[in-house]
Amino acid sequence: MSQIHQRSNHQWSNLAWTEIDKLERDRTIFLLPTGAIEQHGAHLPVDTDIFNSSALVEALVKNWNPNFQANNYEVIALPPIWWGTSPHHKGYPGTISLRLETFHHLLTDIISSISKHGFYRFLIINGHGGNAGILTASTGDLSESLGVSIPTLSYWQSIKKILIEIGESEIGGMGHACEMETSLALYLRPELVNLDALRKDLPNARLPHSCIDFRQPGFLSMPLDFRRDSREGVMGDPTLATKEKGQRIFEGALLATNELIGSILEMDRSALITDRFEY
Ligand SMILES: [Zn+2]
Repeated sequence: MSQIHQRSNHQWSNLAWTEIDKLERDRTIFLLPTGAIEQHGAHLPVDTDIFNSSALVEALVKNWNPNFQANNYEVIALPPIWWGTSPHHKGYPGTISLRLETFHHLLTDIISSISKHGFYRFLIINGHGGNAGILTASTGDLSESLGVSIPTLSYWQSIKKILIEIGESEIGGMGHACEMETSLALYLRPELVNLDALRKDLPNARLPHSCIDFRQPGFLSMPLDFRRDSREGVMGDPTLATKEKGQRIFEGALLATNELIGSILEMDRSALITDRFEY
């Protein structure tokens, strides 16, 4: 019988509790992919955001830095949090959005179950812009309630220079289901991109300073409603997407995140945990 599943020693879900217990508390980092299940226009699947962050995490643990490996540093991918907070996309079918408190409770329950056993190095790798606010608030709360400080990286933040370099669209062209996300999809799973449905859809004039763009976000924070504020769920120009751009984005994020993981592993324990009894 052929083997249908390949075990990975870097996937939490593949390990037995005895193996997890053997991981060195000071030398193990857990990567938690977060994202969303939400509409991504007529040309991309609804799991785009969680697929991207999970694919990055999978590539990170597969290409785990050999120097760190040699020093018994371990990187473990946690099961992803599939759903995010996407109230601004609920006007379209396909979106499954969590309430803020649901997301917060989910994150708290996951992290506290792990940190209870002495683990404290984490990195959240986020694939959905709409999670940024709740992730900041929730990790702030976890820092107080559990004493664990958890950094969050929304992957596009680490590659802003690359995005500016490869972006051909005007500002507003890299927002949602856009030049960036469609390029990533063309690189990672082109069979899921409906090329006949690619249409440019820039933020409309009612939103002068709250334009969303991964290269240069507007300075005004304002809730969007994609049913109202876009034609069919897109903010950006997916017609300029290419597989080559997707490869640069993915490889750039992989490199930057790998370095980041190294620096979190080398941080002193005292910089990541708070002993609440000290004050
Ligand atoms: Zn997205």
